Amino acid sequence: MIIRTKIVATLGPATSEIEAIRRLAEGGVDMFRINFSHGDNEQRKALLDNVRAIEAETQRPIAVMGDLCGPKIRVREITGGSVLLGEGQEIVIQKDDILGTAKRISTTLEELAGQVEPGQTMLLDDGKIRLEVVEVSSPDEILCRVTQGGMLASSKGVNLPGTQLKISALTEKDRADAAWIAARGFDYVALSFVQVADDVTELRQLLTEAGCEAQIVAKIERPQAIENIGAIVDAADAIMVARGDLGVEMDLPAVPVAQKRIARLCQLKGKPCIIATQMLESMTTSPTPTRAEVSDVANAVLDLADAVMLSGETAIGQYPVAAVRMMDRIAEEMQAYDDQVPATGPIQVFHVPQTVASLARAVQGITSTQPIAAIAAFTITGSTARILSKQRPQCPILGISPDPAVVRRMCLYYGVQSMEAGIVEHTADVLELASKFAVDQGVAQTGDNIIVISGRPLGKTGATNTLVVHTIG
Ligand code: PEP
Repeated sequence: MIIRTKIVATLGPATSEIEAIRRLAEGGVDMFRINFSHGDNEQRKALLDNVRAIEAETQRPIAVMGDLCGPKIRVREITGGSVLLGEGQEIVIQKDDILGTAKRISTTLEELAGQVEPGQTMLLDDGKIRLEVVEVSSPDEILCRVTQGGMLASSKGVNLPGTQLKISALTEKDRADAAWIAARGFDYVALSFVQVADDVTELRQLLTEAGCEAQIVAKIERPQAIENIGAIVDAADAIMVARGDLGVEMDLPAVPVAQKRIARLCQLKGKPCIIATQMLESMTTSPTPTRAEVSDVANAVLDLADAVMLSGETAIGQYPVAAVRMMDRIAEEMQAYDDQVPATGPIQVFHVPQTVASLARAVQGITSTQPIAAIAAFTITGSTARILSKQRPQCPILGISPDPAVVRRMCLYYGVQSMEAGIVEHTADVLELASKFAVDQGVAQTGDNIIVISGRPLGKTGATNTLVVHTIG
């Protein structure tokens, strides 16, 4: 059975060997994520090579996403690895790097003092420890009071909820990593801690100058990004609801609503949406997930996610393959449910080229009135397949492109099976090729109707204008 919801899995120490990657791919992974917050370039290159080797072996396109760290603020090293911060005590955060103690620590953001004001809350270690800024004593020092204590370990994250940080989403390290990614043919680049659309534009410029057409995934993990979400969705190629940091930076109970709103907006604007973080978290150490986690993945599918993502579960977990299989099975159950009870009714896609949107609506009309085994979309850039996928038809979409990079790009699109084929010259060849792919993929047989969407003139970008209902054979 072809599962329409896509699975993104993060690679890490638990899944760096080629055999592990093979098993994840067999389990249903469509895109692998390489996290630039960990490891070095030699390790990342080995991961990329392993994925490409499995792709060649299985003859199935697999996308790879490089995830830039962004300006994640972290506590620097602490004496002895960790210290106890007691409620009510004072602590100084200083600019210069020191070995931290319970009285004085430093962070990776040297300009931190310029970003905060008295009264403001600062969160350490995913919000487990809370500080209140008492005084910005100098450009080099911040005096804080601990309002919620706990053990603070080296390298834990620092979050400043409610503060528009006066820093770019691209650090020097990100720029170097982006250049490295651009030279190695990654399919997607995820940009962390986006605050405004210009952050995305800045990365786009950098990639374009490096001759790289990798698609940009804007990670929504700050409330400022939610305030600017419309422009960010317009600027990015895809969106990730990065619930880890988002759940620290904003009121946690408000995160599910944010997730629904973002996914719905992506639907309207025709952009893929990935729902990420702690989806099957307990499977990091347990072979079965909690009921709540299963429900979370299922509801992400109902929320109109194109893809669901695994992080620590596959990167450092004890049961990476079981986690992928579990996700795949939940998606399968939701698909069976959606086939019987379409949860969303007709979905309107706006903010996309008018002709393609009209064709997508026509597809919806046709599939709701007669049996259609598959929709074949001939696409140069993948955008026709992407917009069709946003209508969430119940039959598979075959995304056919002459460009191998586009074939991989389509791995993220809900319901799209992508494949490569050279540009065909005549309408009869288009129909024959579409029929052949549908039969080869096992989604149609002789006598079945398929919808074929292409453009005239054939092979020209942006020319999609033709819809044929074709009977195979
Ligand atoms: C997140 O915060 O949810 C996320 C996906 O980002 P990262 O794993 O890089 O912290």
